[in-house]
Amino acid sequence: CGIVGYVGGQSALDVVLAGLGRLEYRGYDSAGVAVLADGGLAAAKKAGKLANLHKELADRPLPTGTTGIGHTRWATHGGPTDANAHPHLDDAGRVAVVHNGIIENFAPLRAELAERGHALASETDTEVVAHLLAESFSSTGDLAESMRQVCGRLEGAFTLVAVVADDPDVVVGARRNSPLVVGVGVGENFLASDVSAFIAHTREAIELGQDQVVELRRDAVTVIGFDGAPATVRPYHVDWDA
Ligand code: GLU
Repeated sequence: CGIVGYVGGQSALDVVLAGLGRLEYRGYDSAGVAVLADGGLAAAKKAGKLANLHKELADRPLPTGTTGIGHTRWATHGGPTDANAHPHLDDAGRVAVVHNGIIENFAPLRAELAERGHALASETDTEVVAHLLAESFSSTGDLAESMRQVCGRLEGAFTLVAVVADDPDVVVGARRNSPLVVGVGVGENFLASDVSAFIAHTREAIELGQDQVVELRRDAVTVIGFDGAPATVRPYHVDWDA
């Protein structure tokens, strides 16, 4: 029920875990994180409270990286298990995706992916997105463009945030009927379900519009529509106390 993404100069894991803590009030049954480090992608996820994820990370620490994503889940498809917790990865473990909402047409997409030889590791509607992004990225080499193409195949309400090991300084997000806010920092940028997740770092925000994809780099925020057209962004200052 909450999403956090980070790219910048700090430990992404620290920023993402703190952000997930600020989103706990939204309710959830599982939590997970992924960070890009040493040319690869490392993830950890656990059913239950964030404390379970913290314990898992203490037992099996992730390498330190400066790009990462995190998720708290409110299960809709597939029970609240470790395997169904997000992030979900593609077969090669190069793409990680987190999702809030429901992908209505996941069943035909799962069948299509299984037919093409993908091994699905969870019972979620979400996992199809990781595999579709990986397939698309192998031809586009551009995660934002792949996210745009994949969103064109999805029905339902979703906020999606993804990273790929091959482009470790980028976080990509997308939304339809489900919220996503960009936090604009100096040499760092944030994505979250609401501003409370990043307000300790920046009060400059951009509300992502309906059917838009955002690409975050340390020094750049680029927004396009699902139709591929550049989008006008309206930054605002958060002047309330979160
Ligand atoms: N439908 C997805 C799942 O069940 C996402 C649920 C959520 O919004 O956290 O895994």
